[in-house]
Amino acid sequence: MQMGNQLVDYHCHLDLYPDHALAMRECDEDNVATLAVTTTPRAWERNIDLASTTKNVRVALGLHPQLVADRAREISLWDEFLPSSRFVGEVGLDASPRFYKSFDKQKDVFQHILRACSKSGNKILSIHSVRTAKIVLDMIEKELPAAKGKTVLHWFTGSTKEMRRAVDLGCYFSINAQMLVNERKADLVKEIPRDRILTETDGPFTQTGNRPSRPADVVMVVDQLAGLHRMTETEMIGTIVNNLQRLEESP
Ligand code: MN
Repeated sequence: MQMGNQLVDYHCHLDLYPDHALAMRECDEDNVATLAVTTTPRAWERNIDLASTTKNVRVALGLHPQLVADRAREISLWDEFLPSSRFVGEVGLDASPRFYKSFDKQKDVFQHILRACSKSGNKILSIHSVRTAKIVLDMIEKELPAAKGKTVLHWFTGSTKEMRRAVDLGCYFSINAQMLVNERKADLVKEIPRDRILTETDGPFTQTGNRPSRPADVVMVVDQLAGLHRMTETEMIGTIVNNLQRLEESP
């Protein structure tokens, strides 16, 4: 059992760093409980192999909405691996201009994923919702209510009203540094109930200084969250670790 100084990076693409094995090992060396999300089910077996030698890495089975245009047929491979995975991600919807053309296909794939998770039960999902918070929440409400599975909204950028609706649906939020870059954004994060927050880097897609973020960089998010909630860093770390344990408890 880890002591109270454990960090949490609940959305990181460890397989997209130049040295995948090293990125995994560093999660143990730096004591960061990490959810290694994947963008295609083709990455699943390699990730599971490498993670099996670590204590801190969980691997999530994904099919990224930004890849659905070309890879929707990989859903059959995703189905094949689902029984062996408690964690699912990165999945969701992306309505930004570059990906809007595949939006109908994305909705079909995401609906399929939510239904499969509901049927299996006891899954934890890391969900992408760029420009589409309302539809994502509608689909979670309809297809994967809290009794059927747990959902973590990654890099949430919806409105305050949508955030409250997500809280009512039982969602957690993984917060990254980009969500705290200005006061307006931080105001939304501050309103998220304390017992629903986790931290993430979304590395290597985000930068810390001049290099891609690494899982241990979540300490900067922890410090900012501590400031927002007028807590010490240690108290905030304890809060996040408790949230992680509650999230991952089986019903
Ligand atoms: Mn991501």
